[in-house]
Amino acid sequence: MNCEMCGTAAANELVRAIVEGTELNLCQKCSRFGRVIARPSPARIPEKMSPPRTEPELLIIPNYARVIRQKREQMGLSQKEFAQKIAEKESFIHQMETGSAEPGIELARKLEQFLKEKLITQADDGGIRLSKPKKEELTLGDFVKVRKR
Ligand SMILES: [Zn+2]
Repeated sequence: MNCEMCGTAAANELVRAIVEGTELNLCQKCSRFGRVIARPSPARIPEKMSPPRTEPELLIIPNYARVIRQKREQMGLSQKEFAQKIAEKESFIHQMETGSAEPGIELARKLEQFLKEKLITQADDGGIRLSKPKKEELTLGDFVKVRKR
C-alpha cells in the first residue's frame, strides 16, 4: 500500500490518521501532519523484534584542539592551506585549534578522514538510552491533544 499523501510505498508502516477531516493511510513521515487514530497492529510487526533504535550521542573528543593542530603540523600545512584543503574558513581553523570553537559532527567527520585521526566519540559506552524515545511519544501525545480541541 502507498502513502495517500506522498505516494511512497511503505508496506507495513502505514498509519491511519485524520488530515483535515479525511481519514488517510499515511507513512510515518506524513503521519505527523494528521491526527493519528491507529498505529499498525502489533500482529503485522515481524516476530523478531528489532532492537530499539537508539542513536548513540556523538561528541567531539575533549582534546580536539590539540589533535587537529598536531596532525595539521605533521602534514606540514599552514592553517591557511589546511583551511583550503577542507574548504573551511582559516579563522575557523584558528578557533578550533585554540579550543574556542568546536567542530560540528559533520565537519569532525571530514576532519577525521583528512587527518586520519579520531575526533568523534560516543557519549556513553553504547548503552541503551531510554530517555529519547519516551520524549518523542510524549510529544506525539501532546500534538494529538492539541488537534482534538
Ligand atoms: Zn507519506
